[in-house]
Formats: sequence, structure tokens, C-alpha cells
Amino acid sequence: MTIQDKYKLTNLINARGTFTPLGVSRSTSTICDAVVEALSGYFIIDELQDLANKSISGFAAAEAATVTHCTASAITVSIAATMTGTSQARIAALPDTTGMANCVVIPAGHCVDYGHSILQAIRISGAKPVIAGSAENCTLDEIEQQITENPACCLLLVSSKLVECEAIDFAGAINIAHKHGIPAIIDGAAQDFRISELMLTRADLVLLSAQKYLASPTAGLVIGQKNLVAAVRAQEKGIGRAMKATKEAIIGAVVAIEEREKLNLDVWKSAQQEKVNNFVTRVNNIEGLSARSEPDPTGLPFSRALIQGDNSQSAIDAEILANHLKSGKPSIWVIDQNMAKRELGFELVQVNDDEIVTIINRLGEIVSDNSE
Ligand SMILES: *Cc1c(COP(=O)(O)O)cnc(C)c1O
Repeated sequence: MTIQDKYKLTNLINARGTFTPLGVSRSTSTICDAVVEALSGYFIIDELQDLANKSISGFAAAEAATVTHCTASAITVSIAATMTGTSQARIAALPDTTGMANCVVIPAGHCVDYGHSILQAIRISGAKPVIAGSAENCTLDEIEQQITENPACCLLLVSSKLVECEAIDFAGAINIAHKHGIPAIIDGAAQDFRISELMLTRADLVLLSAQKYLASPTAGLVIGQKNLVAAVRAQEKGIGRAMKATKEAIIGAVVAIEEREKLNLDVWKSAQQEKVNNFVTRVNNIEGLSARSEPDPTGLPFSRALIQGDNSQSAIDAEILANHLKSGKPSIWVIDQNMAKRELGFELVQVNDDEIVTIINRLGEIVSDNSE
């Protein structure tokens, strides 16, 4: 009996991607086994963090790395690190930032809400967000103009939620931060596949969620410059206490990185593309629907399928379709946020073949029920 059945929880298919309210991702059995073993043992946590440092910095070709509870907490403790360094007195004083440079410059378009506002993740450390540019656009000059009084660091992010904002030249923005003697942090969250690109921007810290495409237990990976990583780790004796990584999360992240390093990316990419192409073909065979594939909007190495009502038929509304998918058994969740036109998105990376059959059958049923 599954946990869902035993406790009468909703059975669901997640075609929405690495979505936190649905449990984010599924770990492989190798990761699960390691986590189970970690849970029943004791470890010297500093040794685990040293292991993580070696494993993650090898993966990212970085100077150093550490693990926090998640990326939301990684944002808070990374910003704290830029204000305190490893000073015990400063670490103990936070979120009181008296006497510290405490302004965090962030482009207006990067002020996203991933469950809470990223501005709150900044403010929890005691820092003050200083917003540059407008929601649609932020130039390098606008970033520079905001690096004035008491700057602590510059925060940038990569996210599928950045739908309105014109792309910012990361390397350019980071150069400006460095010119003013402050570090730059990139919240890369789901971008583990693009870690080398993000490292090339010369960001001082890059933050990743290990539970997204690496599919480990929830963990934030803080990757970058040695002194700053040490200052992040030092926050565990301060505000970072409430944001610490657990033994099972550190082990899970290390094993997930081992798996990623063994992955043949080209083989994986073509398997993903074939899965999406087959799905698109099968949806196009359903009278009343049309489908196509589109590359991931954040530049991850896979596509998503987009579906809409076929105009030549009595077109079924995307919102109605999403509601029918969600209210059935199992409940099917798709990308229905931030979608241009009247389309639904299906991310299939973590969807297995049986689930794809269920989705196709359900789409057929919904369309025929609604065209009578
Ligand atoms: C998912 C996400 C976060 C939060 O990550 P957690 O590990 O769930 O805390 C932060 N920023 C962005 C851009 C995200 O996509």
C-alpha cells in the first residue's frame, strides 16, 4: 500500500516541473537508499560538510561549496555572509546590522515570489533590498546607480518566473559589483544543468536547489568563493541555525551529484526530446487538441509540450482543461501559470511512461466529454 493510499492523500501526476507545493521531484533508488542509511546513522556533521564541499566544488569547478536547508535559506545566509564575514560578533548580532554595510541591490524584474517574496529572504538577514530599474527592464547603469550607500552585495536570479523582465547581462552586472568592491550572488535555484555557464559569469556565489533537477532531498547548494562560503557556514552559529542542512540531505546531495556526473547528457537529452515528441504526436491525434514542443524558457536542456484547443474544432478552453485534469483521479498538474496565449505546458522530465498514458487517455476523455 502506498503512503498516499494509507493516509488517504491525493494521488497525483506532476507534469508541472519542479514545483515545491507538489513535493518538487522524485529521487532515484540510489539516492533513496543512501538517505535511508544516513537517517539511521551518526556522522560528524563537519565531516559531512567537508565531503559536500569537495563533491559540489568538483561538480561546479568552484573554489568551495556548502549545503544549507534550501535555496530560500541559502539566499538569506549568503547575504548574511556578505555583511558579517566570519566575525563572531557580527554573526551573533544579526538581524541587527548596526555598523555593517547592509544594502542588497536587486533588479526590479528579479523580485520574484517563489512561495514568498525574495525580498523577504533578503530582509530576514537584516539586510535592506535596494531595487534597480523597472519590472520590464534594468540596465547596467541602473544597477550601478543603486550601488551607493552601504552596499553589501548584488543579487541576481535565473527563473521561469522572469516572464516580463528583459534578460540582464549577468557578467556585465557582476563586473560592476566587483568594480565597487562588493560580491555578486546568483540565485540559480533550478539551474543545476547550467552550473558551468553560471560560474563563467564570475559570480561570487551561485545558489542551487538540490531537490529540483538533481532530485535529492531538500537542500540548498552554496557554491563559489572560499571566504564567502566559510562565512556562510559560520552562520550556522547565528541566524543559519534555523536553516541548517540535515545529515540525510547532505548525503542525498552528494549521491545526487555522483549520479549527475555519471549521466551521459547527450543520451539523456535525446531521450527527453523523444519523450516530448511522442507526447506531442499522440496529443495531436486527439481531435480537438493541438500540441507542439518548445525549449525550456530558462535554457535548461529539455523541451516542454504545449497544448491548446484546436481552433477548427469547438475549442476547449485551457483553463477548463487544466481544471478537469486537476480534479480527476489521479490529479494531473500542469503548467498553467505565466503561459502566453491560451496554452497549457507539460514538463515531462519526471513523468514516467505509465503516467504519460494516463495523461493522454484523460485528455481524450475530457475533450470528448466537452464536445457533446
Ligand atoms: C525554487 C526557487 C527558490 C526556492 O528554492 P528552495 O530550495 O525551495 O528554497 C528560490 N529561487 C528560485 C528562482 C526558485 O526557482
